[in-house]
Amino acid sequence: MVRLPFRDGFYELRPSKIVCLGRNYAEHARELGHEVPKEPVVFLKPPSALIGPGDPIILPRMSKHVDHEVELAVIIGERAKRVPAEKAMDYVLGYTILLDITARDLQWEAKKKGLPWTIAKGFDTFAPVGPRVVDKRELKIDDLEIGLKVNGEVKQLARTSEMIFKVPDIIEYVSGIMTLEPGDVIATGTPAGVGPLRHGDHIEAWIEGIGKVEFDVLSEGSILC
Ligand code: MG
Repeated sequence: MVRLPFRDGFYELRPSKIVCLGRNYAEHARELGHEVPKEPVVFLKPPSALIGPGDPIILPRMSKHVDHEVELAVIIGERAKRVPAEKAMDYVLGYTILLDITARDLQWEAKKKGLPWTIAKGFDTFAPVGPRVVDKRELKIDDLEIGLKVNGEVKQLARTSEMIFKVPDIIEYVSGIMTLEPGDVIATGTPAGVGPLRHGDHIEAWIEGIGKVEFDVLSEGSILC
């Protein structure tokens, strides 16, 4: 569970699942050597991967290459089952920022073998969120700046208007497969510029209208020793 500022108080984020979109920005699909998809690419992250502002991202020993991915995250407010796109926004509570941290070397290996991405995407601390939850009524998400810096250097910078599949269509697609529960999170994909993280790195991620969230990066070895 992560507690984030929301309206006049706090929102306790306890998703039953974190649904993620892959390759939802054309430039990012290309940088990973993929075609732009005709259907949404969907995978899950476990809720155990969630951390909030102030918690470190831990680079696991099993990976030598962990990438950052900044994403607009949608938080579901009402149970949604087979919801059409025209009604989809009625089921949204609000928005936050989610970093879809990815063990890229393990993902490449899985892709090569035709195996799922669960391990590459599922380590503890691989779903940092924050800085707050913004009420859907306070934010038009169609064309917001989204960006990420590592140690002060801009690595990702794009606009949410570049998304291939838009939020209502994503909700229609996903809710046609799995019922979305209140508190569930949908991470809508990352723009181009993903890159590796190292022990000691400092990340700043922002989305216009939501704010900026910061995380430190530590290696698992540095914590256990
Ligand atoms: Mg992603």
